[in-house]
Amino acid sequence: MGGADNRRSPAANNGNNTTRNLPLDPVINLDHGDPTMYETFWKKLGDECTVVIKGYESLSYFSNPKNPCWFLEPKLEDSIKCLHDAVGNAVTEGYSIVVGTGSSQLLQAVLYAVTSHDQPSQINVVAAAPYYSSYLEILDLVRSGLYKWAGDAHEFNKNEPYIELVTSPNNPSGVIRGPVVNRDGGVLVHDLAYYWPQYTPITSKLDFDIMLFTASKCTGHAGSRIGWALVKDKEVAKKMTKFMEVSTIGVAKEPQLRIAKILQVVADRCKRFGSPEGDNFFEFSKNMLAKRWEVLRETAKKSEMFILPKYPLQHCNYYGEITHINPGTENYLIMVTAFAWIKCKDEIEDCEKLFRSHNILTRSGRRFGSDPGFVRVSMVGRDEEFNMFIDRLSKIQDL
Ligand code: PMP
Repeated sequence: MGGADNRRSPAANNGNNTTRNLPLDPVINLDHGDPTMYETFWKKLGDECTVVIKGYESLSYFSNPKNPCWFLEPKLEDSIKCLHDAVGNAVTEGYSIVVGTGSSQLLQAVLYAVTSHDQPSQINVVAAAPYYSSYLEILDLVRSGLYKWAGDAHEFNKNEPYIELVTSPNNPSGVIRGPVVNRDGGVLVHDLAYYWPQYTPITSKLDFDIMLFTASKCTGHAGSRIGWALVKDKEVAKKMTKFMEVSTIGVAKEPQLRIAKILQVVADRCKRFGSPEGDNFFEFSKNMLAKRWEVLRETAKKSEMFILPKYPLQHCNYYGEITHINPGTENYLIMVTAFAWIKCKDEIEDCEKLFRSHNILTRSGRRFGSDPGFVRVSMVGRDEEFNMFIDRLSKIQDL
């Protein structure tokens, strides 16, 4: 990840004894979307989410031999269903659930499951730019004989079978998206990592054929590495399970049990709005992100160096159920996405370089198949990091 070394200021390494020990301008790493912002909420809950696993428990490879996904912990299956039901963001009835080591592993399982060793050539995999940079990285690393990266979906004009990865809300831009190729012979994979009420209005209960979710972005427990797929076609789910079986003989039970508990706690409280304890996870997180976005927008406006995206107002079915707070306004949310997709003003060709010269690490638009005039900045780090970022941003003057 390259993070630890970057925390030292370059000034600390310049051999100048007068600055060596001063933590001036430490590097702020906003390149990764590491969701440490959520620690504040989980600390408040204290021991409520503690899971104890005794030495003799969870030894077997198997969780539920009757389930086609035999390594899926029944408690996790239940809490996934319960949470989607409570939030209303996806249909689970009639779907198979496949658990993965993060949704990153599930993506590979899906690509294996929807392709075949009998096909004459590799299937094209596309995503509309700006696309999540890991798609390209994963495919490039795996170099599968079954599929290959074919770039920006907007530019895909071959009359060949394809798989389109549809990320909605999108990483990096936060935009709500649908497929763009729209041709026969295509398989759609919906990556819904951010389709949760702290990031975006929940406008319908989605029922796509293949939907990917992850605890990393839903509750912030990225370190547990738990993702899940909701899959309509049982054969596809079975092939995905086979992929996990061969690659890692399933998914570790301990994080499954931990995430089962976390999701259940979120689900149990997610219908309590405006409670003085602030124990509705989505409400708490949305407010926290909204405040950050407000500060960021103010800072960008003052500096006149950076342009932030504007998102349309939309009705949210999840918050729409609150009728007692500010009726008429509260039901409409402005998106407060997990990343800021920042464009530098036109004279600045390389936005990432500009930020780097101020010791702020971001991800260049180039990595997302887009323009170097853009950068992606994580909005979900710890408070100190965010405040430092804003402070430094406000001091970036004209070139
Ligand atoms: N999809 C998207 C759109 C993401 O942003 C991420 C995490 N950055 C993932 C998938 C992978 O998530 P994980 O492997 O942590 O579950």
